[in-house]
Amino acid sequence: MRLSFKPYTIELKYVFTLAKSSRTSTQVILTEIEFNDKIGYGEASLPPYLSETTETVSAFLSKVDLSSFKDPFDLSKIISHIDSIAPGNTAAKASVDIALHDLIGKLLEKPLHKIWVLNKNETPDTSFTIGIDKPDIIRKKVEEASEYKILKIKLGRENDKELINTIRSVTDKPITVDVNEGWKDKNFALDMIYWLNERKVTLIEQPIPKENIEDMAWLTENSPLPTIADEFVQRLPDIQRAYKVYSGVNIKLMKCTGLNEAYKMINNARSLGMQVMIGCMTETSCAISAASQLSPLADWADLDGNLLIKNDPYEGTKIINGKIMLNDLPGIGLKK
Ligand code: MG
Repeated sequence: MRLSFKPYTIELKYVFTLAKSSRTSTQVILTEIEFNDKIGYGEASLPPYLSETTETVSAFLSKVDLSSFKDPFDLSKIISHIDSIAPGNTAAKASVDIALHDLIGKLLEKPLHKIWVLNKNETPDTSFTIGIDKPDIIRKKVEEASEYKILKIKLGRENDKELINTIRSVTDKPITVDVNEGWKDKNFALDMIYWLNERKVTLIEQPIPKENIEDMAWLTENSPLPTIADEFVQRLPDIQRAYKVYSGVNIKLMKCTGLNEAYKMINNARSLGMQVMIGCMTETSCAISAASQLSPLADWADLDGNLLIKNDPYEGTKIINGKIMLNDLPGIGLKK
């Protein structure tokens, strides 16, 4: 088995504004694992608000030597080995995990969702993010998003209510709200959630800073809407920490080291009676198609990362009438 990788710059269709930053491009690293004339594709996405960079991922991947593994089906052993190389580096690890899963699917000539015995018709609708912007641009973005059945809005700034009112002036579609830790006070957050609940908002993601665990448990207990942990949850042990603090968790391949751990996290969350969202970063169709293979297991999907970019090098899982449509291609379902 041979791993290779190269940096790639994703260009965004719009300036992407969050509670704490704005940007027009995202760096990714595209990986390939070659074995017996088959190639598995993977990706590490590196949004600037997280700690990994082109340099750290390249340094990590340079340390990955798969030559001692003769069989890609030794997946657990290989993944444990990758994880033991260095702490952190979750996106770098995910780029190997995704490529390995894609390779295994290609060797078995089956899509991953079939290997996991998931029903491809049970995929959820994905939400589509409308980035923070001026009211006339927001209205235009909502019109352009006519195909999507759920809109996701980033709140956590001074004009939250104005933003929601702008969207509600043009559509009554369900809205999911992601605050990215932007509300600082639990009482303010609860007032906002009640206000949003009256305006057909269906869930609230990461309303307050992840450190405020007691306040968050109080908020979840009193909230009329489900609360979803994102920044609070990275890897498998974080699911137990989120129990009784949030109603559900947003699982992302780039945070959790890939499909192997994401699958375990979903099952752990389910066993605790928690809701599951599968999310993404700004990514190409590679990481999105990989995550979409797990989407029949999720209550909510937020897999629009590839829809917001201009230069996707791949073709994979499609969104049709807002719903995730898995194809029958082997592995993660990707065409170059
Ligand atoms: Mg989020």
